[in-house]
Amino acid sequence: AHLERIAQVDGAVHAFLHVNGEEALATARDVDERRARGEELHPLAGVPIAVKDVVVTKGQPTTAASRMLEGWVPPYDATIVERLRAAGLPILGKTNLDEFAMGSSTEHSAFGPTRNPWDLERIPGGSGGGSAAAVSAFEAPLAIGTDTGGSIRQPAAVTGSVGTKPTYGGVSRYGLIALASSLDQAGPVSRTVLDSALLHELIGGHDPRDSTSLPDPVGDLVAAAGAGDLRGVRLGVVRELGGEGYQPGVQASFTAALELLRQAGAEVVEVSCPSFAYALAAYYLILPAEASSNLAKFDGMRYGLRVEPSEGPLTAERVMGATRGAGFGDEVKRRIILGTHALSAGYFDAYYGSAQQVRTLIQRDFAAAFEQADVLVSPTTPTTAFRFGEKLDDPMAMYLNDVATIPANLAGIPGISVPSGLSDDGLPVGFQALAPAREDARLYRVGAVLE
Ligand code: GLN
Repeated sequence: AHLERIAQVDGAVHAFLHVNGEEALATARDVDERRARGEELHPLAGVPIAVKDVVVTKGQPTTAASRMLEGWVPPYDATIVERLRAAGLPILGKTNLDEFAMGSSTEHSAFGPTRNPWDLERIPGGSGGGSAAAVSAFEAPLAIGTDTGGSIRQPAAVTGSVGTKPTYGGVSRYGLIALASSLDQAGPVSRTVLDSALLHELIGGHDPRDSTSLPDPVGDLVAAAGAGDLRGVRLGVVRELGGEGYQPGVQASFTAALELLRQAGAEVVEVSCPSFAYALAAYYLILPAEASSNLAKFDGMRYGLRVEPSEGPLTAERVMGATRGAGFGDEVKRRIILGTHALSAGYFDAYYGSAQQVRTLIQRDFAAAFEQADVLVSPTTPTTAFRFGEKLDDPMAMYLNDVATIPANLAGIPGISVPSGLSDDGLPVGFQALAPAREDARLYRVGAVLE
């Protein structure tokens, strides 16, 4: 049914870069046979899933939506993909994203944008617009995303889906094509909070192949999603993540959602995180710095694209220059230049060093806020889905989309976006909840009450 749905609508939505129907059907048949034999299977066995194309899949192309990796077929599976396969989830294919997960609209994909199923003239968010659109358009019930600054939560918000960024270290990064290694986390995208909890439990937990993987088990997220009320839970509305600069319809939806949570027993307080004013600036130094280092491996020598200069000597440096010039899009180049500059001798302390200090201030703000509240809440994004082209020529306007999601990545804490109804423009709004590190279960308890 899902493959048929993809055949019907993906020409218009373009959520997928690659569909592997045969493999998905083979897995589904295998699960059916095992079930018929009475084998005990994972609750998600046989439930199809779409995987963001920045997560490597053995035998299935993985491009990061870049010309640099066009046609590359990984020889191994990411740990999370191994876990999906072991539990019997048919992998439908790979979803579109902004090139190397840099962006908020999927307009930076080298293979054309994904469209928002709610309004095909609008962006589905980014970078994981393909995963969120696939779920929202009923092409897949579940998807995997990655969130470095909001790329699971922001697309979920603008497509009316649920998306979670787990605690840093809670889900293995082994086999993710790294954007910024100190910020990246993979997580679930789904239509319901319970589905995300199930998927999060499946992919989460320790992995010895990821040196930053936490030793702790991921927690009982499914039980938390079934708690049903919020008695004894203090919700902290973050003063800096709302109000001015937020679309009135988004703010109204947030306020209405808050009232529902209050009716479910939550106590609502206001908290202040003054250092968030510098979060975006710090993020856009730390991310390009780490990205410029991570992307240095795409050199035309080992795998992926190789372009040789049309004339002149064939030196390694000239092959790298020609390959990277042809293989990377504008946004990727912009960030490599920014990051290389920020890390260069003489500028390191002023830029990267200061950004790391801001990161500490943000962590302290969160620590203080979590003394007053169990869960912090805000709108996920300042606006609903915008139109194609609206922010494409203005990187600063594009970057501002992530103003509410980025602090969680800088602090390594978990966050969820849950639909909170529609804005007055008829488009979905996301409600964000944030919890202390390792307390991902709290997100599902709050999120489930909003459904
Ligand atoms: N939109 C943000 C950026 O462009 C977030 C990216 C992400 O989470 N992968 O960096």
